[in-house]
Amino acid sequence: MDQKLLPFALQDVPRYTSYPTAVQFQDGFPGDQADRWLAELPRDASLSIYVHVPFCQQLCWYCGCHTSVPNSYGRASAYVDSLLSDITRSGKLSGAEKGNVKHLHFGGGTPTYLSNADLGRILACINGSFGLAPEAEIALESDPRGITRDRAFGLAAMGFNRISFGVQDFSLPVQMKINRLQTHGLVAHVAELLREAGFTSINFDLMYGLPAQTAGSVRQTAKQAAALRPSRISVFGYAHVPWFKKHQRMISDSDLPGVSERYDQASAIAEELGHAGYAAIGLDHFALPDDPLAMAASAETLRRNFQGYTTDTADALLAFGASAISEFPQGFAQAARDTLAWSQAIAGRKSPIVRGLASTAEDRMRGAIIEQIMCNFSADFGAIASRHGFTTSALEDSLVRLQPLIAAGLANIAGSIVRVPREHRLFLRSVACAFDGHYTAAKNRHARAI
Ligand code: SF4
Repeated sequence: MDQKLLPFALQDVPRYTSYPTAVQFQDGFPGDQADRWLAELPRDASLSIYVHVPFCQQLCWYCGCHTSVPNSYGRASAYVDSLLSDITRSGKLSGAEKGNVKHLHFGGGTPTYLSNADLGRILACINGSFGLAPEAEIALESDPRGITRDRAFGLAAMGFNRISFGVQDFSLPVQMKINRLQTHGLVAHVAELLREAGFTSINFDLMYGLPAQTAGSVRQTAKQAAALRPSRISVFGYAHVPWFKKHQRMISDSDLPGVSERYDQASAIAEELGHAGYAAIGLDHFALPDDPLAMAASAETLRRNFQGYTTDTADALLAFGASAISEFPQGFAQAARDTLAWSQAIAGRKSPIVRGLASTAEDRMRGAIIEQIMCNFSADFGAIASRHGFTTSALEDSLVRLQPLIAAGLANIAGSIVRVPREHRLFLRSVACAFDGHYTAAKNRHARAI
């Protein structure tokens, strides 16, 4: 890595899956407000629904998700009962007509921790309360170690058509350090089973920055992963936050690669996936050229939401489950992270929302610029400002913050268009951050850029 890029690589910057980002949400946000936003949805609003399942069979030491390992399935069953109550209550409040859910995504945790019967109960409840569009994309995250032939065919029969699972790294020494043992043979077998069952899209997650990884080892994993031809591959840098995620203490600081090594690892994966025919999408995704994500990136219709890059253009994202964040045209609403508090609110027939934020007009303008940069590597900030009723003078602070990035070659400006050179895609977040009106540089608030 060019040493003049080092200060930017070390900067802690948001991932911009929303703007304002979740750290700006206020505690004590009234659930009534979120209920009103739900009721105010236009009749013809298209919807996207997210369901959070905070359970796993065992913990991976690198995990940054909101999840836990229950001591019995009873906890999961009770959780599903609460989910059904909340979905039903929200369905009654929603102003949108039924049949407009275009995307449904189960994340976690490991949604396939739930039995097919329980997943089926949730699907039926969503369909009854909001109505799935006939062409809806129904996706779930999974753990390949729990996918049997029966499971794969059962999920496909219920209507799931997209699946994503963590591969991370195929090297055994790395897998032992992160407490996630899964052979290349298992992943290949499960991918084959899922295709046979009818899944039209399979996504693998890979990681860099893990203990015992080298640029050579991640390149080998990328090569093996690409050979299995998943339609999409997401590549994430490990964020070591043991003060926040206690199980990450099982990973020793001294085993972790430095920032230059992380940069080399991310670059090696990108190069290998490029050789294998994958198109680079935004910050950290790759897709086969005929995948809708790659086509949306070419057409500059790519979007970004809490699930990362997406083709989803829904008017609102309704999220269910502990810690889940809904996005309305007016702002964001997050449910209680604590499963007990979340389920008690629902049992009391109340909204489980505890945090959130009403966006201002300026937030929406800055959010649109940031999303354009994150998705398309460029944004016409003058045109976007004007569409939102502002002039570029509202962005003077951003233009000042852009100067060091321009001097380092990470961005350039022509007229009112800011661009990020594609070879610097790993620094997209840093350029987007220049347009963040709420950002304060504080250690450990966000993940490091590289
Ligand atoms: S399976 Fe996924 S969600 Fe569960 S602990 Fe591992 S990384 Fe975290």
